[in-house]
Amino acid sequence: MSKIKVMSENLANKIAAGEVVEKIASVVKELVENSIDAAAKNIIISLEEGGLKSIQIIDDGMGMDKEDAFLAFQRHATSKLVREDDLFFIDTLGFRGEAIPSIASVSRVVLKTCSKDVGTLIEIKGGKVIREEVSDARKGTEIIVTDLFYNTPARLKYLKTEASELAGCVSLVERIALSHVAISFTLFHNDRILVKTTGSGQLHKCIHEIYGLGVSSKMLEVRRSNDDFDLYGFICKPEILKSNRNHFITIVNDRVIKNYDINRAINDAYYTYKPDTKFPIVVLQISTDPTLIDVNIHPTKQDIKLDKINDLYDLIYSTIKEVLYKSLLIPDAIKKSEYNEVKEEYVEHFVKEEEKKEEVYQNSSQVALDLSYNEQQDIPIIVNEELKKLVLYPVGVALGTYIIAQNEEGVYLIDQHAAQERVNYEKYLSALKKQKTTTISLLFPITIELSSSEFLVVKENLSILTNMGFVIEEFGVNTFVVKEHPTWLKTGYEEELIHKIIDIMIHNNGAFDRVKFNEHIAITLACKMSIKANMRISIEAVEELLQELVNCDNPYNCPHGRPTIIKFSIYDLERMFKRVMN
Ligand code: ZN
Ligand code: ZN
Repeated sequence: MSKIKVMSENLANKIAAGEVVEKIASVVKELVENSIDAAAKNIIISLEEGGLKSIQIIDDGMGMDKEDAFLAFQRHATSKLVREDDLFFIDTLGFRGEAIPSIASVSRVVLKTCSKDVGTLIEIKGGKVIREEVSDARKGTEIIVTDLFYNTPARLKYLKTEASELAGCVSLVERIALSHVAISFTLFHNDRILVKTTGSGQLHKCIHEIYGLGVSSKMLEVRRSNDDFDLYGFICKPEILKSNRNHFITIVNDRVIKNYDINRAINDAYYTYKPDTKFPIVVLQISTDPTLIDVNIHPTKQDIKLDKINDLYDLIYSTIKEVLYKSLLIPDAIKKSEYNEVKEEYVEHFVKEEEKKEEVYQNSSQVALDLSYNEQQDIPIIVNEELKKLVLYPVGVALGTYIIAQNEEGVYLIDQHAAQERVNYEKYLSALKKQKTTTISLLFPITIELSSSEFLVVKENLSILTNMGFVIEEFGVNTFVVKEHPTWLKTGYEEELIHKIIDIMIHNNGAFDRVKFNEHIAITLACKMSIKANMRISIEAVEELLQELVNCDNPYNCPHGRPTIIKFSIYDLERMFKRVMN
């Protein structure tokens, strides 16, 4: 019926193909999303040579009858669009109707589909129907795409290497699987399974199936709502970090999206829990009213715009920060991924735990939703009980750098510089945040000579130094004199530290952000004032340091995000010495 129409639209389709099909992963995405829309429970994706040779998708969805099957190859065939704001719900809709015809216009497509008792097979090459017959009656749809871009060589050369197209597909399938945990996905490459999820309906189990035990056992659950957004998901402990943001996975209303502000909220929440150049694995499901989402109908873009993004930022930031704050985060020296044999048991165990947690949550959700935050987004005053109970008994110092400590759970190694840097950092930061500071007047005022440009920067920002508790005055040409300083400035180091602070001030000139300035000062002074590696430290000083460390808000990382402490559990030690054999 529609053959002529399909052909006349061919040119438009070829043009659209350039838009929709940028890489193999975009073909896979369009086809898999069709399977999801068809309510499939199992979706199998098979690629050959990174998808460059062939892409096959088999699903057990509702399938199509003959008429629908032909309609699928026409542009704008969709009739699902009802209202403007259904657009996001359904998908990047304008294109949903274009994806298959576009793909079919630049490749060879074989579609086998069946909704009731008669199956239909259609083969299309370059947008022309070349075969049409009755096929077997397996419910669902199978589609095979080969010879992609055979008739548009200019596009063909834009495809990357097999390895890089494949990597794109793996990452895509993983993300789609995480956003549809009730559907089982299997990705084959040349007959080897690369991704397999069971469709259990459980996000944590899906994370486990994708990332393995080494990651899933280090994930912390997050769950909170505000008026407009429901947040649920898992964030990793800072001991497992990646070198890029690719594992920030945000799912808004069942759709994987990218959003700069959401990524920023995640990254900011991990501040000082990780080095700036490392990034956590975070999977967040966000549910919201679709009217808060601005539709972006470019087919390949995943970014969306959200109204009330600041509220969402606060929700994500404060929830992650609080979960990190409340958890014990001392990394084990032995990575759990080495215990592969327990993998299966673990999965079973976790499923039960999840069910229990679900019940607990149902009962406690009221309380959980009532927490409110002050403007600075500081953590509400909660004491991390587990952490405060942690007692570390020092044994000695190894290599002049690592404190050895123990308790009934195992042996700990603590980096003496990193630990003290953390302690000092929190001290300086809270001193800098205080409204009122006590000051000491200097017996011998300190004079500071600067270049003219530096002098001007300091002069312009003098109130900042005054607010910090410095009494500082101009004293001749390009010179200041400091007469009083806040008490937290360590005796004996006043001059050096004042110079440091002024350096930071000059360095920061232009973009002056008080919070960042304080951070910068606290980190710099903390590093400066902390015992270095290879410096001797008395056992009393070690005891005091360990006590102070445990009392920190985040005792696990120095302010640069490096670890301060690692643990060898008794079990790890016994296992290494073969005292236990499992
Ligand atoms: Zn340092
Ligand atoms: Zn550091």
